[in-house]
Amino acid sequence: MVKTRFAPSPTGYLHVGGARTALFSWLYARHCGGQFVLRIEDTDRERSTQPAIDAILESMQWLDLSWDEGPYYQTKRFDRYKEVIDELIAKGHAYKCYCSKERLEAMREEQMKEGKKPRYDGHCRHDETQHSADEPYVVRFRNPDTGTVAFDDMVKGHIEFQNSELDDFIIQRSDGTPTYNFCVVVDDFDMGITHVIRGDDHVNNTPRQINLYKAMGAAVPVFGHLAMILGDDGTKLSKRHGAVSVMQYREDGYLPEALLNYLVRLGWSHGDQELFSREQMIELFTPEAITKSASSFNTKKLNWINAQYIKTLPVEQLAAELLWHMEREGLNKDNGPDPVLVVKAYAERCQTLKEMAQKARCYYEDFSEYDAAGVKKWIKEGSIEVLERSLAALEGLESWDAASIDKVLEELAASMEIGMGKVGQPLRLAMTGTPTSPGIGDTMLLVGRERTYARIKQAIEHFSK
Ligand code: GLU
Repeated sequence: MVKTRFAPSPTGYLHVGGARTALFSWLYARHCGGQFVLRIEDTDRERSTQPAIDAILESMQWLDLSWDEGPYYQTKRFDRYKEVIDELIAKGHAYKCYCSKERLEAMREEQMKEGKKPRYDGHCRHDETQHSADEPYVVRFRNPDTGTVAFDDMVKGHIEFQNSELDDFIIQRSDGTPTYNFCVVVDDFDMGITHVIRGDDHVNNTPRQINLYKAMGAAVPVFGHLAMILGDDGTKLSKRHGAVSVMQYREDGYLPEALLNYLVRLGWSHGDQELFSREQMIELFTPEAITKSASSFNTKKLNWINAQYIKTLPVEQLAAELLWHMEREGLNKDNGPDPVLVVKAYAERCQTLKEMAQKARCYYEDFSEYDAAGVKKWIKEGSIEVLERSLAALEGLESWDAASIDKVLEELAASMEIGMGKVGQPLRLAMTGTPTSPGIGDTMLLVGRERTYARIKQAIEHFSK
């Protein structure tokens, strides 16, 4: 059975690169009917934080990338790592290294001077000296001296390293804590991981890890290294490019469905199809279609995808996410229409739900200011009369629905022999404080009957001055 994992280091929020790695691992497991493991790689105690762990879990949940096992925490597995290290030492695959900092530095300097790549010289491999119990040491893996390490990467194809290029890397630091390259192998082995999908910043670690698997007598998993994500400007994606943390995308009004859809296309394709439901992604995701080259983040495209989802997802689902944004905007949902109505009226008009929540402010809060340019353009001599007659017509309405409102206002425009714009625009200003809103009937429906009357009266008073 295929078993994949996502293994973030909790040293910061989950950024889009990490989320893409998580998505691809998750998709591959789901596509194969396998399992997906979440593991928090928190051995670097200085840089790992609880808020970062919380942010990772929150992001995974928001994206709905569910895991079958975990979250495992490496800090809870120290006994196991110790056990494997002792075993490796006993079998001669690892050894204690007592080399001082000074010696290592001198060695490095010497190697650099000779134009060689700095690497540990294996000095303590055959160390016969007696060491006192309190003398500090690290544990190094005894890497083979000759031969090659090769693997067939799911994305990059055949990759080969010379063992002579690799040195005896540290698997346990002098403070007794195990290192990443070691823990990751023990974990992936213990957890039965069959496919390791991760960023290609780890390609150079892979041969070391493969040698460790072999020393442990463990089966080597299949590796798939994903190419980097670049910013719009071709440089490595970073904070400079705007939002990079998954939860910031939520704050900015993106839907998890849209972000996932956007991320799946960053380095994977299926013909020229752009929109994929979660089910389609799972069905169609094959590693053969993962691209070898780096992909560039494109905010315009993300906005377009988000807009598509706002147009097509069930309104109740959108309303729930809109409510989250309304709360962030300080809007009281009890002081206005059902958010489902806002979604219905605005789904075609917004790229993000944050934008929608901001546009909805006027339906939940009264205001006394009007958009100056709109007023200048639309409030003319006859506007007060238009507002007064609109009020009278609307007060006479039997049924308060969008079609009836539109109809009575169209009739008014016709009877006054003026264009609908001259009726609708002053009313929009009265309803929302701005000259842009959905159809006037829908807008008034959102404002509500009594409030519509009150706002027209307020506008008459305001514009009469
Ligand atoms: N913890 C590593 C990282 O966050 C990932 C390790 C792996 O996937 O092998 O970069």
